[in-house]
Amino acid sequence: MTCSDLNRVLASSLQALERAGLRRVLRPMGPRRDGVVMLNGRAVVDCSSNDYLGLASDPRLLEAARTQLGGRELGVGAARLISGNREEHGRLEQALATFKGTEDALLFGSGYLANVGVVPALVAQGDGIYADSLNHASLIDGCRLSRGTVEVYAHRDLEDLERRLAGSAHRYRHRWIVTDGVFSMDGDLAPLPDLVDLAARFDAWLYVDDAHATGVLGKTGGGSSEHWGLAAPPEITMGTLGKALGTTGAFVAASATVIEFLRHRARTFVFTTGTPTCLSAAASVALTILHTDPALLGRLRSNVAIARGALRSKGIDVGGDAATPILPIVLGSSARTSQVGEALLQSGYLVGTIRPPTVPPNTARLRITVSAVHDPRQLTGLADVLSVALGKAS
Ligand SMILES: *Cc1c(COP(=O)(O)O)cnc(C)c1O
Repeated sequence: MTCSDLNRVLASSLQALERAGLRRVLRPMGPRRDGVVMLNGRAVVDCSSNDYLGLASDPRLLEAARTQLGGRELGVGAARLISGNREEHGRLEQALATFKGTEDALLFGSGYLANVGVVPALVAQGDGIYADSLNHASLIDGCRLSRGTVEVYAHRDLEDLERRLAGSAHRYRHRWIVTDGVFSMDGDLAPLPDLVDLAARFDAWLYVDDAHATGVLGKTGGGSSEHWGLAAPPEITMGTLGKALGTTGAFVAASATVIEFLRHRARTFVFTTGTPTCLSAAASVALTILHTDPALLGRLRSNVAIARGALRSKGIDVGGDAATPILPIVLGSSARTSQVGEALLQSGYLVGTIRPPTVPPNTARLRITVSAVHDPRQLTGLADVLSVALGKAS
């Protein structure tokens, strides 16, 4: 086989994607500011990002990163266990643990890396994993990389989960329930109090991926635990810094013992370069802002209500839980979803057009996300143009 053979094989796969309407393109965009991005020389309202609080371009975060960078260093040059550990990492981890109400926390380069490192570290051969069918790809991959046996239960289906837990106690040494707190493409919530209850009844531990809940759900943005008023946090909560908290990276919050164990065993922590400290400094400021400026979360919630109300008033069927800024509109057909997305772009709005394999077959959808920094008129405007676009698209 030669290089040209490889190119031929892959080109034919790409052509198949093209025929199925699943070819993707990387669009060059300018930075996002106040919910607006430059795309092909035009300013468009961005309703597709996870920058729910507008913190990614907040001057206070930018200043913190700039100050931290100063004349110091950009990269830390090694894994943290070698010579890449810095005070800023530890300081942010302490702040995250306080934020999440746990004893300790551990930083990762991204949410993807956290999930594919932490699940295999905790789940050994002979253990069982019960995973929601709509968990994020990184959580699916983490489960696959572990040596445990994975049982997938129907999305948010407590009866299915209970049946599986009840029938399998003898089969596994330890058991884990693994779920997203907020499902990224559906905007609905895992029923955490019930999952905590099932975990207690069946001697299982709970792992919650709070990527879209961190900085969003709960009175102070503390996430799913706070939203549901859980008496104690789950054994493991993963949260990302790249969504509401405006930077990039992720963390796991847990007991001091769990975190100490992960420092030794999570391969995506041990065998990777530490994250730049300018990001840690900026993320620390994001936490301070959440703490000191509750009006920011208030604006997000008010904008979510405005967007949902405006879409509903146009007779548009919006899915997801009203507590999340993720508003999915399931159209089914990938081609129609792309067509409506393109029409919206022509009208000055960028929304997510989500197609398989990101979502199950025949459930392609528009994924609208709302930010605290959107002007309410942008959101009512979106409902107007979307109503027209849906009417026109076949
Ligand atoms: C975005 C996301 C991740 C990955 O986080 P990154 O920091 O972007 O790698 C993991 N889990 C869920 C549920 C997500 O939505």
